[in-house]
Amino acid sequence: MKEYEEIRKNLIEMLEDLDARLAKITDHVKHADEPLEKDFAEQVTQQEDDEVQDYLGNVTRAEIEKVKQAIARIDSGEYGICVVCGEPINKERLKALPYSTMCIKCASQKADQSRRR
Ligand SMILES: [Zn+2]
Repeated sequence: MKEYEEIRKNLIEMLEDLDARLAKITDHVKHADEPLEKDFAEQVTQQEDDEVQDYLGNVTRAEIEKVKQAIARIDSGEYGICVVCGEPINKERLKALPYSTMCIKCASQKADQSRRR
């Protein structure tokens, strides 16, 4: 799929960035396992900070998963096809959101549905 070669390259760069980010976050969390010899206020701050890092770690991992799937879809030739309706996804949309798996129409329909819930 020559067509998506550039997007694939971008995705791989994204993946490297995300991996680096995740490594930093995991490093930070590991740090938190060290014995706490701080006063209570500092411990609370540390805990809150850990929760944020934990959250960021999960978000980053989910993003890594999406990017990996997008690369796999390029390799298998399924990339750029909406998983819901099977229509091609707009190129501009793919450029803006390279790991999108739905066309604008289906994505906005899905957003509508979750808003109504
Ligand atoms: Zn669609």
